[in-house]
Amino acid sequence: MSDSHQTTLNLKEMHDLSVLRMLAGNQRFVERMAAEDPGFFGRLEKGQTPHTLWIGCSDSRVSTDVITDTEPGSLFVHRNIANMVVHTDFNVLSAIDYAVNHLNVQHIVVCGHYNCGGVAASLEAAELGLIDNWLRNIKDVYRLHAAELNAIVDKKERTARLVELNVMEQVYNVCKTYTVQKAWREHGRPFVHGWVYDLKTGLLKDLAVNISGRRDLEEIYRFDVDQTIGSEH
Ligand code: ZN
Repeated sequence: MSDSHQTTLNLKEMHDLSVLRMLAGNQRFVERMAAEDPGFFGRLEKGQTPHTLWIGCSDSRVSTDVITDTEPGSLFVHRNIANMVVHTDFNVLSAIDYAVNHLNVQHIVVCGHYNCGGVAASLEAAELGLIDNWLRNIKDVYRLHAAELNAIVDKKERTARLVELNVMEQVYNVCKTYTVQKAWREHGRPFVHGWVYDLKTGLLKDLAVNISGRRDLEEIYRFDVDQTIGSEH
């Protein structure tokens, strides 16, 4: 008996067919695409020209291609718990750099979602372990907007508002990066947007934070090439 047969049997014995279903689903996908669009794989094999970098939550219910009805090749995607843009996270910084400087994306979308477990957990005092270091970044967003959030009596509404405010702060965090400010100066792009996905309706809400230049940033975060140290010498 081959190793692959052994693996298949073990999964069946475990009564966990979810992985086998994914492989079967892949077969159906290949057959469907071959019938509907015979050039599909040949086109994508040549390379990618996505128009947008999507920074979203890892939540399994917020499947980027599905909720935006976009084809593979349209979106360059980075996802983590609660769609955070942390300035010491080389993962997200690398995704932004690659998307902006090599894929030349026109847009960056930060997309959160209501009923976000990460945001909800950040409002609790329970000690969860390692993830508390990550959730701390959301607590910082709370602290920035504590007056507004504390005035909301209903806990569900307060959490929903924190989801929105967190997206807005992560939009600003994208814009605070050297990568994005340099691209604005040299290429006049990308446009940075903040959206929230509603699990109940399936609709995306535009939070109307659409930033395309350093004038929208607080002064302390703006890089200015004419003000570099020693430039007068
Ligand atoms: Zn989430």
